[in-house]
Amino acid sequence: MNPILLAQGNGGNENRDLIENLFYKHLGNETLLKSEDAAVIEAGRLAFTTDSFTVSPLIFAGGDIGKLSICGTCNDLAMMGAQPKYLSLAMMIEEGLEHELLESITRSMAKELEKNGAQVVTGDTKVVPKGSVDKLFITTTGIGEIVQNGISSQGLTPGDAIIVSGSIGRHGAAIFAAREGIELQSRLTSDAASLWPLVDALLQGGIKPVAMRDATRGGLAAVLNEWAQQSQVGIAVEESEVPVSKEVQGICELLGFEAYNLANEGTFVLALKKDQVPDALDILQRFECAADAAYIGEVTREHRGRVILESAWKTQRFLEMPSGELLPRIC
Ligand code: MG
Repeated sequence: MNPILLAQGNGGNENRDLIENLFYKHLGNETLLKSEDAAVIEAGRLAFTTDSFTVSPLIFAGGDIGKLSICGTCNDLAMMGAQPKYLSLAMMIEEGLEHELLESITRSMAKELEKNGAQVVTGDTKVVPKGSVDKLFITTTGIGEIVQNGISSQGLTPGDAIIVSGSIGRHGAAIFAAREGIELQSRLTSDAASLWPLVDALLQGGIKPVAMRDATRGGLAAVLNEWAQQSQVGIAVEESEVPVSKEVQGICELLGFEAYNLANEGTFVLALKKDQVPDALDILQRFECAADAAYIGEVTREHRGRVILESAWKTQRFLEMPSGELLPRIC
């Protein structure tokens, strides 16, 4: 037992020890180790984003809050055609959290940063009295260097194709299962993954994305509805083409969820010109996390601002923007 102490957030010796022996040890780099009041960085045209992570439980099948806190912020940069470069990391730690747990979460961060070629260059550590936060909250802010200009959720036009990079709803279903103690015989894991390597491969392969968005809270349904509204177009999706794993389907049937509304943390939606679909699928499917990538639908002139699901029997229904809070503290 090696619990984090209030004094380790005191700004003095104990705080210094925690930062040097844990965060610098795993996340250290030249800029961070300078330990100035602010990091001085070099970058060209920038993308900038921030996210807080409060997921419960801290560890789940397929990831932990550390992995999420890096993937989430780096993925938002990647979706704008930006290579993740520099991150800030703010930790709110509840007094008594196990040091070993914090270290394993920090190691997850280091691993994910490496996949993105990104660095934590500045940070903050607070330890708050028991009960003030639930174990650990993390905020990461990221800066990326734009590699591909003009990617925008306002740029979809009729005839564009829609691709999803993997089977949907795995993060939401995995968190729900972990929280409710649902023991599944089959393997249900979160899809949490860094997407920059996939985006990099697409761009290098000559793919020109019209829009990209990771289907986090609100799932595929939210992304498609946002796009339909922001671009004032319709989006028609072939239900039978949307990849959903057996495990996620099982959770949905058990609990009355729709996989379209469940969160993802390593699955994104890509809008592009139709003639690029075969190349894009070929590139994506080389990655393990995108083995199920599929062409699921297209942008239409009809039903502007709405998303239409077409069944295998050619019946149609609207896919609505999710409402209410299905699962709080999912990321
Ligand atoms: Mg996003």
